Amino acid sequence: MKHLIILGDGMADWPVASLGGKTLLQYASTPHMNKLARMGRTGMLKTVPTGFHPGSEVANTAILGYDLSQVYEGRGSLEAASIGYELQPGDMAMRCNLICVADGRIKNHSAGHITTEDSDVLIRFLQTELAKEEIFSNVTLTTGIQYRHLLVIKGGDKRLRCTAPHDVPGQEFMPLLVKPKLMEAQPTADLINRLILRSQELLTNHPLNLQRIAEGKDPANSLWPWSPGYRPNMAPLTMTYPAIKRGAVISAVDLIKGIGHYAGLRNIEVEGATGLYNTNYEGKVSAALDALRTDDFVYLHIEASDEAGHEGDIPLKLRTIENLDARVVGPIYDEVSRWDEPVAIAVLPDHPTPCEHRTHTADPVPFLIYYPTIEADAVQTFDEIACKEGIYGVMEKDEFMNAFMTSSAAL
Ligand SMILES: [Zn+2]
Repeated sequence: MKHLIILGDGMADWPVASLGGKTLLQYASTPHMNKLARMGRTGMLKTVPTGFHPGSEVANTAILGYDLSQVYEGRGSLEAASIGYELQPGDMAMRCNLICVADGRIKNHSAGHITTEDSDVLIRFLQTELAKEEIFSNVTLTTGIQYRHLLVIKGGDKRLRCTAPHDVPGQEFMPLLVKPKLMEAQPTADLINRLILRSQELLTNHPLNLQRIAEGKDPANSLWPWSPGYRPNMAPLTMTYPAIKRGAVISAVDLIKGIGHYAGLRNIEVEGATGLYNTNYEGKVSAALDALRTDDFVYLHIEASDEAGHEGDIPLKLRTIENLDARVVGPIYDEVSRWDEPVAIAVLPDHPTPCEHRTHTADPVPFLIYYPTIEADAVQTFDEIACKEGIYGVMEKDEFMNAFMTSSAAL
C-alpha cells in the first residue's frame, strides 16, 4: 500500500455567524472530502505541541510524527535546505530579512516587497564587502526568495533572543537588537548586532537603493536576522516507517520543502505552483500521481486556504476549500481507485487560520484516513465538528502518522 497526505494549509476555521454558525469546512461544498470521511475513519489532531507557536513549520513537522522539542531549529535551517545549502555541524542558520528602516524605526519587514532579483544584487554586494572584514570571517549570506535570505555563522550560539520583524512594524530597531539568553551566547549576539549596523552603513547609499528611492520604492537598507538554529536532527521517514522506501514532497512553500528535505523526501517542483489562489492545482495533482507511481509516500501541500484566512476573506477561503476538494481530492481519488496497488489517503489542515482571527491558532484540526479496506467510523462529513466524533479521538505527537502508516500495513 502507498500513502498520500493531502495537506490544506490553514483550512480549519471557527464557526462563523454569517454562515449560520457553520465553519467554512461545514459550509463549503466538499463532496469528495465528505465521501472519504464517510468511507474512512476520522479524528482530531493536536498539531501544535504545548509551548510552541502555531507556525506552519511547527505543525507540518509535527504531522510527520517528529517530536518538536527534539528537532525544532527555527526557520533558517529549513529555508537553507530549500535553497540547497547543506548545513554542516557547528553551522548556525538564521532567517535573514532585508528590511526597510526609516528614522531609526522598522518601516516594514520586506523592504517594500523587494524582488528576488533586487535582493540578489544587494546580498551579493554585502557578502563581498563583509568578506573583506576580519570580524565577519565566519559569516555567510546567501540569497533566498524575495526579502527572505539566509545567514550562516560558523560556530554561532543559537541561544539568542531575536525579534521577528513582521511583528514590530513602526518600532525603533535599536531596542530590538539581538540579546543573548545566557552569557556564552554574548559573542554571537554582538556579532549579529554589528552585522546589522554594518549592513545599514553599506546598503544606505547603494546605487540600487538610491534608484529604488527615486522610483518611490522602499530601500532595502538593513539586514534583520532571526529564528536561529542548527541542522535539525531529524531521522528520515524511511528509517522510522519501513513502509516508506522512497518519498516525495510537493509544495510551493520554502519551509515545507525544507522539512521534506530533512525528512528524506525528494522535492518535486511544479511549474506555476504559487502558493496562492491561482496555484496550478492540476500540475500539482499530476505531479503527485506521478510521484505515487514510483514512490511509496507523498506529502502534497496546498497553501491557498491559509492565505485567504490571513486576508480574512470568507468567500475566498470557501473557494480555496472547494478548489481543494474538486480539483485535488476528487481527481486523485478517482485515479488511484483504479490502480492495482491501493493508496491510503489522509486529508487534513496543518492548523486553523480562522478568517475572523486572521492568523494561525493552535486548536486541534480534523483529519480523515481512507484506504479501500478500512472499516468506516460513523462520521459522515469532513469538518471541525463532525471529526470530533471520529473513532481516532484526539491524537497528538506521532499518533496520527503511526495510525496512517501502520493501520494499513497489515493488509
Ligand atoms: Zn500553515
